[in-house]
Amino acid sequence: MISVEEALEKVLNYVEVLEPERKPILDCLGQVLAEDVYSTIDIPPLDNSAMDGYALRAKDTRGACESSPRYLVVVGEVAAGSMPTKEVRPGMTIRIMTGAPLPEGADAVVRFEDTDEVNRKSSGGDLSQIGILCQAKKGLNVRGRGEDIARGDLILKKGKVLRPQEIGVLASLGRSTALVIRRPIVAILATGDELIGVDQPLAPGKIHDSNNYAIAAEVSRYGGIPKILGIGRDSVQSLTKKIYEGLDADVLITSGGVSKGDYDIVKDVLAEHGEVGFWTVCMKPGKPLAFGVIKKTGGGREKKVPHLGLPGNPVSSMVTFEQFARPAILKMMGKKILAKPVIRAIIEDDVVDTDGRRLFARVSVTKRGGQYYASVTGPQGSGILTSMAKSNGLAVIPENSKGVKAGDMVEVQMLDWGEEQGDVKTLPVVSIVGKSQSGKTVLMEQLIAEFKRRGYKVAALKHSRGGMEIDQPGKDSWRFAQAGSDAVLISSPDKLAFIKRVDHDLDIEEILPFVGSEFDLVLVEGFKKSKTPKLEVHRKGLGDDLLCSPEELSAVVTDGSLDTDIPQLPWGDTVTVADFIEKNFLRTVS
Ligand code: AMP
Ligand code: MG
Repeated sequence: MISVEEALEKVLNYVEVLEPERKPILDCLGQVLAEDVYSTIDIPPLDNSAMDGYALRAKDTRGACESSPRYLVVVGEVAAGSMPTKEVRPGMTIRIMTGAPLPEGADAVVRFEDTDEVNRKSSGGDLSQIGILCQAKKGLNVRGRGEDIARGDLILKKGKVLRPQEIGVLASLGRSTALVIRRPIVAILATGDELIGVDQPLAPGKIHDSNNYAIAAEVSRYGGIPKILGIGRDSVQSLTKKIYEGLDADVLITSGGVSKGDYDIVKDVLAEHGEVGFWTVCMKPGKPLAFGVIKKTGGGREKKVPHLGLPGNPVSSMVTFEQFARPAILKMMGKKILAKPVIRAIIEDDVVDTDGRRLFARVSVTKRGGQYYASVTGPQGSGILTSMAKSNGLAVIPENSKGVKAGDMVEVQMLDWGEEQGDVKTLPVVSIVGKSQSGKTVLMEQLIAEFKRRGYKVAALKHSRGGMEIDQPGKDSWRFAQAGSDAVLISSPDKLAFIKRVDHDLDIEEILPFVGSEFDLVLVEGFKKSKTPKLEVHRKGLGDDLLCSPEELSAVVTDGSLDTDIPQLPWGDTVTVADFIEKNFLRTVS
């Protein structure tokens, strides 16, 4: 038996990134760009107005306010799509619409609301003049030429997955086509004498073929082009014929016929006409799996078509598709993120895993109070497809774990999240809060040391009301910041510091993107209002009351005893506190 990782590596070694094709941009959604795209134009092409208003010279508005308007002569009007025909000279203005090019001489636009136009109109006043009610700075409401894109800039890099926003950017550059890695054609074949088509009436001993449909839908969802070959019967002749029909495709996916039954002959046919990759993977559902290549000869050239033989049980075929076929299709499409997006969730049911294989449990994931929870969607038999339909994730119960208990932390592959989120991982965050002088920092130090001892990669975050040690007046970095730099980075051979100006007191969620995803745990001191799990340090010398209300806390670390239902952990016993954090927020298996 081989591990899921080994199997995936073998599968990926068999498939190659496909060649590029040029096609209309609207057909490229979800495909990988195969060229660097430079701009040949400026966007916007000319300075233009960001508002409906009056184009003028900022100088002419000096001192203007509601009680003391500056009156300008209106010499014309310009709408989006046309060019101004007049110049704005001192004392003049041109009425301008959003997107219209800024007339010669003008350097700012004052919105209608900051003029007396409405009053003039309602009182039937003279519109050949206008009162400006505010002082305008040069550049006010003006979008500069090339502000978004400058001619010659590299706009989209090779390798970029095209989303609607990139399609829009291509259109704005005046590109009607793009060069993208083509989508793989995936031939799909169900096997079994018991199978009949969806439009045929059931007969004794027969079932409708569902795998062809579920797999074809998966193929489309991940960007491949499905080509259903139909149903192959359990005979060498039928299977050989059908499999050969699939050899024009880039990859062939069969379901059924790979286990040990007398009629499970897909693997025999495969062995006769190609090379067999492997047979059994340490996973459940989905142990029997075949992988190899089928040789196609003809026209003097030999072609090898990768073949993935999934188990027949409907849930097994879908779960193995997700683990092996999906990454293969994504690789062929030139994608870099092949892993399913994974989150950490608290499992709400016990799951037993008796035979030591990696278990993929169908779960329904919900988010409550900033925490993900996963509940098992009913019976887990590999033929029970409705439990797959009720699920939005697969909880991964590691091999040799005996299972998990309700309340344990598990990793869940999210089925419905797009692959572009494949690098999203939730980082466990635990806050240590408490009154001033309660010993938060001491507990932080002890926990950091304890988690390092346990092999975790730890980041610590501290809220500071005052200044920052590393941001000292007179230092070079401080001077760069004084000069106006929005962020300052200081790098030495063994440290990196990053100081960014912010306009409000950030909350933890806003800070986490800067922490990155390389850590196993973020320990936070303070941030008592945050929604992350919190442990409060309570010291009897500082009173019986708590800083946070008990519902907000995961536990209290105390040197006394409190009249509360939430767990109380002994102050001074770091191992117990670390165990609590590990079990509740970090551990994957019980
Ligand atoms: P097999 O792997 O061929 O032994 O099939 C295992 C189980 O999956 C059997 O109960 C089959 O009836 C069922 N099965 C196989 N192929 C399909 C299919 N295309 N649609 C629905 N069920 C299937
Ligand atoms: Mg079968």
